[in-house]
Amino acid sequence: MSTTAAAHHASTVDRFEVRANDAARTDEERARLLESPAFGTVFTDHMARVTWTADGGWADRRVERYGPLSMDPASAVLHYGQEIFEGLKAYAHADGSVWSFRPEANARRFAASARRLALPELPVEDFLGSVEALVRTDRGWVPSGGETSLYLRPFMFASETFLGVRPAREVEYVVIASPVGPYFASGVKPVSIWVSTDYHRAGPGGTGAAKCGGNYAASLLPQQEAYARGCEQVCFLDATTSTLVEELGGMNVFVVGADGTVSTPELTGSILEGVTRSSILTLLAEAGHDVQERPIPLAEVRAGLEDGSVAEVFACGTAAVVTPIGRLASDEFDLTVGDGGTGAVTASVRAQLTDIQYGRAADPHGWMRRLA
Ligand SMILES: *Cc1c(COP(=O)(O)O)cnc(C)c1O
Repeated sequence: MSTTAAAHHASTVDRFEVRANDAARTDEERARLLESPAFGTVFTDHMARVTWTADGGWADRRVERYGPLSMDPASAVLHYGQEIFEGLKAYAHADGSVWSFRPEANARRFAASARRLALPELPVEDFLGSVEALVRTDRGWVPSGGETSLYLRPFMFASETFLGVRPAREVEYVVIASPVGPYFASGVKPVSIWVSTDYHRAGPGGTGAAKCGGNYAASLLPQQEAYARGCEQVCFLDATTSTLVEELGGMNVFVVGADGTVSTPELTGSILEGVTRSSILTLLAEAGHDVQERPIPLAEVRAGLEDGSVAEVFACGTAAVVTPIGRLASDEFDLTVGDGGTGAVTASVRAQLTDIQYGRAADPHGWMRRLA
């Protein structure tokens, strides 16, 4: 296994007490559910959980039966949205071992999100331990073959029963897992993007760099607007000038020049720092591309698409890895990217990443961590 990544952080997997679900599904039921799960609809038999109180800190690390959480109607999260989450995957390799991709980065980002939402920081070792304990317990739920994976969703919320406005003194951390089929069931397909001029997802000093449910809530109405205009996703602009490309509701964006230059918006505090984004910056720089993190004016992308100096645009994130963008539209323009298909750089970086994640290529950066 990759010693570099693993050596940085021990995990507390042994401190998670496994309380087995005595109503776990049978092998036959599981096999049927694993046949073609739609994203986020099927969940495994267990969940990992740690409870925090202001007085006692993090306690009661456990893996327990997956099921409804019982909470008081006055639980703070239901009123003020004090909540954060993460998303990462467990990948089955050909030899049957199970791995995750840069989970320490998710753990660190989770702690940073917690700080911004005035939630307690979960130690990196507990984040890693919870994921490992859950995947070991529900190992039979990790799908194999094709681009399938077990999607892991760690989240944390204010569980204290209290309507006063202040950081909660009781918090739950939970990890659930959901087997997912290939994101693009019939091959990678370019998406169309609506550039929102009416709405922003984040502003200076806001929560844009934190992975919190509230950011997603704010993106749903513009997302509806995109659908109504025949587009699948929204691209947001910066809240100050409405001229700079920021990102999609849940994915970062890259622009590839005809000269091979690759650009992505610099981290301004209102952009979420994707693990996929950072990995792509590394891979493309190593492949010899001139890689730039900088402000990207929408006007530059528009002009580039019109005169051919912009060759490819793609979005990236854990769920879909790399998604080509085939069309960019707004009230004022409707442009096809390249020939509307998947560009060479997009296809190549997607293949490089998935080859590492599924163990088909070497892992020189120590990005993979063995879970089971
Ligand atoms: C999660 C997320 C991303 C992608 O991050 P990855 O770590 O690559 O999955 C991008 N933008 C937003 C707003 C996100 O919430």
